[in-house]
Amino acid sequence: MNLLIMGPPGGGKGTQCEVLIKELNITHISTGDMFRENVKGGTELGKKAKEYMDAGQLVPDEIVVAMVKDRLSKPDCASGFLLDGFPRTVAQAEALDATLKEMGVKLDAVLNIAVPREKLLERLTGRRVCRTCGATYHVLFNKPKEEGKCDKCGGELYQRSDDTEATVNQRLDVYEAQTQPLIEYYGKQGLLKNIDGDQEIAKVTRDILASLKR
Ligand SMILES: [Zn+2]
Repeated sequence: MNLLIMGPPGGGKGTQCEVLIKELNITHISTGDMFRENVKGGTELGKKAKEYMDAGQLVPDEIVVAMVKDRLSKPDCASGFLLDGFPRTVAQAEALDATLKEMGVKLDAVLNIAVPREKLLERLTGRRVCRTCGATYHVLFNKPKEEGKCDKCGGELYQRSDDTEATVNQRLDVYEAQTQPLIEYYGKQGLLKNIDGDQEIAKVTRDILASLKR
């Protein structure tokens, strides 16, 4: 089964990916990992990508798509894959479609995990980090025994600037603006499966698996 997964920051996508690749016996392709492997491994595409990154520029779609194509050609993808982190734009989605067609590969579904913004804010802004040992806590879901103090080392807990409401809202705005056109694109192709991500992890997984049987 060949799948693509989309979900907002804090939406639990990473956890679902881990479960789904085991349940469905398919290969997880995180484009972030794929990128790092290419750059670290010094592949031709990795070298090209690095030139752009070193210059502080966005890596062009053709390089990213070539990396995805290369990755999907590996034997571990023959029994199926779960593409995560790509495409991010309609242009990339069109390029991916063309590449898959060339390879004779079909996408079976696009999973879209949706979580209301207030829930995402609750999850993402509640994180606290220990200044001394780096241990992480959550003000609602993983409270330290004593407020503001690390259980492990007694260090002071603080909120990283990435986790403030303003920053999180900005990230969610970017995600929504990026994803909306993709939702329409894959919706038109009849591939989109909207999944309620505001539920227990196991229930979200069950909903995903059920949506794939329909
Ligand atoms: Zn600590």
